Amino acid sequence: MDNTPVRDHFGRLLKDLRISVIDKCNFRCTYCMPKEIFGHDYPFLPESELLSFEEIVRLARQFAALGVTKIRITGGEPLLRKDLHELIEELYQIDGIKDIALTTNAVLLPKQAKKLKAAGLQRVNISLDGIEDEVFKQINGRGVGVQPVLKGIEAAIAAGLKVKLNMVVKKGMNESQILPMARYFKDKDVILRYIEFMDVGNHNGWDMKNVISKQEIINKIHTEMPVEAVEPNYEGEVASRFRYLDGIGEVGVISSVTDSFCSSCTRIRLSADGKLYTCLFASGGYDIKSKLREGCDDRQLRYDLARLWGRRKDRYSDERAESGKSNRKKIEMSYIGG
Ligand code: SAM
Ligand code: SF4
Ligand code: SF4
Repeated sequence: MDNTPVRDHFGRLLKDLRISVIDKCNFRCTYCMPKEIFGHDYPFLPESELLSFEEIVRLARQFAALGVTKIRITGGEPLLRKDLHELIEELYQIDGIKDIALTTNAVLLPKQAKKLKAAGLQRVNISLDGIEDEVFKQINGRGVGVQPVLKGIEAAIAAGLKVKLNMVVKKGMNESQILPMARYFKDKDVILRYIEFMDVGNHNGWDMKNVISKQEIINKIHTEMPVEAVEPNYEGEVASRFRYLDGIGEVGVISSVTDSFCSSCTRIRLSADGKLYTCLFASGGYDIKSKLREGCDDRQLRYDLARLWGRRKDRYSDERAESGKSNRKKIEMSYIGG
């Protein structure tokens, strides 16, 4: 099958596919799935609505034919999806897919890290929003301490996976953890990346007042442990990189609020129930599952995917920066994945 790159309305290539494999989670992070909303009666997707592994792989193959080289598995909590390693194994065999990564809260990694690595997984991004138990327990909404996550990190490293850490920073929630996290992970085998609190979803009470900017985060670190900016590893890398001047370690900041990067956004997202979203902040998705289940052939599927990307005009974070407003109804982060 020919690999035919496709470009959107602004000339951006389609290169990354993010696949959400489940909308459920074992955490209730306050900024993502606040427990007051995502309680017992929340209408999570029934199993029959989830794409099967076979359907996901079939779609991923068509995406690879259109130029996708990287796949990220996310959720909800992707490690809750049964036999996830089997999916990774099949994705790994697709022609053109060079990189498979996973985003997880890591609690289930000690049991799964080896299997995932053997299946072809190369990298994990582990979310950890604080290094002090009391702060972290409050944030994850389930009273889980830091230890299970640290165990997950260890298991990932021991299995040979490359590890990056993601810490969402929100004013009033965990700014106290910016320095302790930097100190703790500086000389460990992981790269810590701070993420500006974003206005994803409709339930996390986002307000610009609660955003701690990339500049504030870096200033804080710099006063104690001097850093300097370094070049991105590759074009379109979302995190700005900073290295410690003493030569040990680096940190990154993902600044989708105060320094947006829509012009280099090459990502498409597939939800667990088979909808495609050309932007994290989209209000609606394209129902590709119906096409699959109606018996659409591969050629038609590729045509639909290419047309969807070709029409893409999304640049939400740039627009938010220009207008200072966040006033769109959006899909939930736990549904679409990060
Ligand atoms: N459950 C997995 C995890 O937490 O790593 C994967 C899914 S989670 C939705 C993916 C990433 O989105 C996590 O790193 C999480 O911290 C981040 N995230 C969720 N809500 C966010 C928000 N409002 N602002 C910034 N990042 C957010
Ligand atoms: Fe779950 Fe990840 Fe959302 Fe936290 S950020 S509630 S771990 S999906
Ligand atoms: Fe990409 Fe949308 Fe985020 Fe801009 S706002 S970087 S277009 S996902």
